[in-house]
Amino acid sequence: MSKLDSVTEEIGPVYQRALDFMQEYGLYDISYSEKKLDVGYTITLPYYYASFIFDKPSGSYNDMETMIHESGHFYANYVNPMHALLEEDNLDVAEIHSQGLEVLMLEHAAEIYGDDQADIATAVILMNMLSAVVDGCVFDEFQTKALQARMAGTLTTAPHVVDLLDEVEDANGASPTWGDSWY
Ligand SMILES: [Zn+2]
Repeated sequence: MSKLDSVTEEIGPVYQRALDFMQEYGLYDISYSEKKLDVGYTITLPYYYASFIFDKPSGSYNDMETMIHESGHFYANYVNPMHALLEEDNLDVAEIHSQGLEVLMLEHAAEIYGDDQADIATAVILMNMLSAVVDGCVFDEFQTKALQARMAGTLTTAPHVVDLLDEVEDANGASPTWGDSWY
């Protein structure tokens, strides 16, 4: 957390307030435990109009990347807390703050990830961002073709939908993550 604190001034005062809020109320569990599932995520706590970050650290640069990413989700909910009944995942916008923050922080890669890991962290993060763009294109093509097929009456069962997705993925040489590796 202290590494993040040192660069947040440039990101903005509201982001800093979100981190202060997170720390003041202990809204994170990022310490190592063998009992933890090997995953990092942010979960909203609608009753409290707050969020909570969970992570199992690995000891690599990925710990900082995860914390930056998840703090973006935390920030998004901090500035726009949603009632539980209105909360809904929207893949088109769900990763804007988290991934955007990862890219903004790259300017401070050496300070955040250390001189020895800054280059590889930067390369991996940029590759992930490009991969997200490709995923977005594949999703869009799939949705367009699914709608066209539905209107033509040729998309009538769940297996048809899966076949169509396979077809689009094969044609693009890409297999979107469907959100199962990002949270
Ligand atoms: Zn995310």
